[in-house]
Amino acid sequence: MIRVTVFGENHHEKTHKVVSDIYPKGMHTCIADALNTDKEIKATTVTQDQHEHGLTEKKLAETDVLTWWGHAIHDKVENAVVDRVQKRVLEGMGLIVLHSGHHAKIFRRLLGTSCDLNWREAGEKERLWICNPGHPIVQGIDKPYFELQNEEMYGEPFGIPTPDEQIFISWFQGGEVFRSGATWKRGNGKIFYFRPGHETYPTYHDKTVQLVIRNGVKWAKPEGKYPLGCPHVPADKAPEKIVVTGGSVH
Ligand code: ZN
Repeated sequence: MIRVTVFGENHHEKTHKVVSDIYPKGMHTCIADALNTDKEIKATTVTQDQHEHGLTEKKLAETDVLTWWGHAIHDKVENAVVDRVQKRVLEGMGLIVLHSGHHAKIFRRLLGTSCDLNWREAGEKERLWICNPGHPIVQGIDKPYFELQNEEMYGEPFGIPTPDEQIFISWFQGGEVFRSGATWKRGNGKIFYFRPGHETYPTYHDKTVQLVIRNGVKWAKPEGKYPLGCPHVPADKAPEKIVVTGGSVH
């Protein structure tokens, strides 16, 4: 069973009627419900308005994969929580960053770049081309691309380090393109950025988007644990017998 924590900013849902009409129980609940249709996944939600944003030491210790949607109040996320999430990713927890999470503190921290991009809200068509049909994240999509009829445009240049793997490239009706699905590894943790999901469109109700997030969770699940820290290994604990010939200040 893969334990997924779905983090939602839960801000637009409380301030914008269009958003609460599309997502009456919040975007995070819609995403978690879609994940829980898979018997291998157990998804629960936390929201930014909770104490420690719901991301306590205990909750993160019990999380295999964290999904992150934020937009308007990234700057209100506590730095201590960002430190904690970063540590868990380096240990091996998977992280799926959704849509406007491109500017989340945790994403910029882990990637180390601006993550800036161009944008436009015109409700235009987005066509997401699959770059590698053999990748686990796109299994079950039986076409070379899929489309969303109304989305926000994100355009290049996207201020990210070169991805380890490019999963999707989007084309928008206005002509721009964007690296809308990409993966990286940091420490032992796998990171997947997946672009669609503007709050005023019903993107997280889309069956293909839901499938991609489920596939992403399965791809990002931990594989072993990366030890953090720099332990000293004394000569008599080395795997082979050695004669100490030099001094050390330690
Ligand atoms: Zn947006």
